[in-house]
Formats: sequence, C-alpha cells, structure tokens
Amino acid sequence: MSQSRALADTALHSQSRVESVSDEAGRLAAFRPPRSAYIHVPFCRQRCEYCDFTLVVGREGLVQRYLAALERQLASLRTPVEVETLFLGGGTPSHLQAGDLAQLLSLLRHWFRVAPGGELSVEANPLDLLDDARVRVLVDAGVNRISLGAQSFVDSELTLLGRDHREEDIARAVEQVRGGIPNLSLDLIFGVPGQTLGTWRRNLERALELQPRHLSTYGLTIEKGTRFYSLRNAGRLSAAPEELEAQMYELAMDLLPARGLLQYELSNFAEPGWDCRHNHTYWAGQTYHGFGPGAARYLQGTREVGHRSTTTWLKRIESGEDPIGFRETLSAEDRAREAVILGLRRVPGINRSEIQHDHGWDLDELGRETWSQLKTRGLVETTSTGYRLTRMGRLLADSVTVELVGSE
Ligand code: SF4
Repeated sequence: MSQSRALADTALHSQSRVESVSDEAGRLAAFRPPRSAYIHVPFCRQRCEYCDFTLVVGREGLVQRYLAALERQLASLRTPVEVETLFLGGGTPSHLQAGDLAQLLSLLRHWFRVAPGGELSVEANPLDLLDDARVRVLVDAGVNRISLGAQSFVDSELTLLGRDHREEDIARAVEQVRGGIPNLSLDLIFGVPGQTLGTWRRNLERALELQPRHLSTYGLTIEKGTRFYSLRNAGRLSAAPEELEAQMYELAMDLLPARGLLQYELSNFAEPGWDCRHNHTYWAGQTYHGFGPGAARYLQGTREVGHRSTTTWLKRIESGEDPIGFRETLSAEDRAREAVILGLRRVPGINRSEIQHDHGWDLDELGRETWSQLKTRGLVETTSTGYRLTRMGRLLADSVTVELVGSE
C-alpha cells in the first residue's frame, strides 16, 4: 500500500494553527524521534488509468540522477539512524533494474539500520518479480516484506485498469519470492467499472489460493487528473454503483476473516502477527522520516511533503534548494484530532488513555456531541478503552471522518 493510501482522508490543512514547541511537548508522540522511514521511488513502466500518485513514465534516464539526489537528501540525516520499519513505495520500486535497485538498497542500508525483528518492505509489480536478478537483490538486501500490486485476477479488469500484467503473472511472481521473503501482501481493487460481485469473489478466492500473509483491498476512487476521471466526465466510463461497492467491501469483511486473514484496519487484513507495522506508524500518529519526491514526513509536529514533480524535486536538490513542496505545522488540537481519525481506521479503535498520553487531549474534548450522534446512528461504539467504528461505520468511514474533522 502506498504512503498516500495509508494517510488517506486525514487532511486537516485548513484548520492548522502554529504552536510553539515546549520542553513538555517532547513527551508527546508528535515529537518523539522517528522509528520509521518511507522512501518514494517515482518510476513506473506505464501510468495506470486510475493512478494520481507521484511518478514518471518512460524516464528511466533519470534513475541515476534520482539516486544521486536521494543520497544528497539522505545526508540531511547527518548520521545513520535505527528504524523499526523501512518502506519503499512509489511509483514502483521494483521497476528499477537490478543494478539500480541494489544501489538504492545499499544507500538505504547505509542510512537506516533496521532494528532486529524490524520490517523492510518493498512495493513491487508482478512482471518485475519474474526477473531472477531483481528478486535476488531484494532477498540479499534483507527485504522481508513484499507488497505486490496484483489488483485483480480477471484479465479484462486488469486491461481496463491499465495494468501491464495478466492473471497468470501474479502466481508466477508469488512463487519467485515465496522461498526468500517471508511476508507477502497482495493489493486488490474493488469497484472496478463493470466488476460484478461474482468477479470480485473470484478475485478474493484466487488471492487466498496464493496464501498471502496479508491482503489490502481498496475501493476504486476516480481522482481528478487521472484518465478514468476524463473518461467518466466524457460519459465513457461509469463508476460502480455505491451499493454494489458496499456489498463488495462487506464480502471482503466476511470472507477474509473466515479464511484466517483478520481485518485489522479499514482496508487491511492479515494473519495474526503479520500486520503492516510501517502503516501502524501512520495510524498511531507517530513521527516518521520521508525521502523522495512526493514523500511525506512528520517530524516535531510538522508535516512536510517532497515536491510532487519528480523533475522539480531533482532540480531543487541539484541546485541546493529546498525540495519540500508543502509544509504545515499542526496545532496541538489538530494533531490530536488527526490521531483520532487515523486511529479509528484500526479495527480495535482508539484508546482514550493513549490519546491523552500521546497527544494531551481527552477524547470527549474533541467533540462530545459528535461522538454521541455517531453512536446514536450506529456508526461508532464504545469499547472498554475508547471508541471504534461499527461494521456500518467502516462502510461509511469517510463521512465519519468529515464529521470528526468539523466537530467542536
Ligand atoms: S504501477 Fe502503481 S504507482 Fe505505477 S501507475 Fe500503476 S498504480 Fe500508479
């Protein structure tokens, strides 16, 4: 799962207020030293029809400049750091040729020491893993988790989505990494135009046959700037009906846990003990490093995002300018509110005493009336430690978020 997906729906930009950093703030989660790092690798073979991520296509000639610029940006760390999780997302990290991939991983292993038992995760596309040399590089570098962009096991859906692989490639890619990389995650998309409940079930069944430790399921969103957006506006593409999409999500929530992959977050299912630890950093409102174009980082209560244009990011670093394209410092209240919204994405929900300890706010100060209304409408329920989304709340998580952002 990309970083943008893990951070989805949390924008509180318009409400931000600047707050000075006091000594006392040092104990809060937003000010603790980061234990996670995200690296954005912006290269893809083609742009999929639904994708609005930061990436370039057909610009492999930029790879060496990217690696050199990344090295310069990483040097801002001054000294190598230990992390619990290191996540390479994109774009498609596996699109790099084996030699470039080895160079990238060696650079990262210099700056980040992954703690014993830590997670080193790489996003990959099926066709790239058919290349033995790339797989060997990943295994040799100690990568212990692959997030494979399967997206669908139905060839007509893959074609419509603009993916370059076919169903049979997914199983072959899985076999390639099975022996060397213990944690395999598959990404699937539901709500693809023309998809039926039957083909969605087939997708889930085929994914389960491959016995992944982890599965992510995303409802398709048609974002501005994508080819799907233009096609829909031109009346040449119809989004899946909301009701059907809800049925697909419910099918995943029923089928996957029954087959051993427990839901632990809105879009994520895993065998016990195989959650994505990196994404838990985001959902827990903790700090993290981020390097590369479009990469977000969250340090000292400030969120910064690398410039979304890969070439602008490159040029800025090469000319010694600041490569950050967006920066905001959250107020204490916004930090707490964001932690609540992100935390609610997790199935166990939010813990009142953790929010108090990590962010300095009581849950009810962040919208007593809103919590009460959400409970009355059956979207949120009380747990022994705080609040969590009900099943219906998970289906309507976007509107719960909107209400919590605006609550007093
Ligand atoms: S492979 Fe992934 S990052 Fe690249 S265009 Fe497709 S969806 Fe976007």
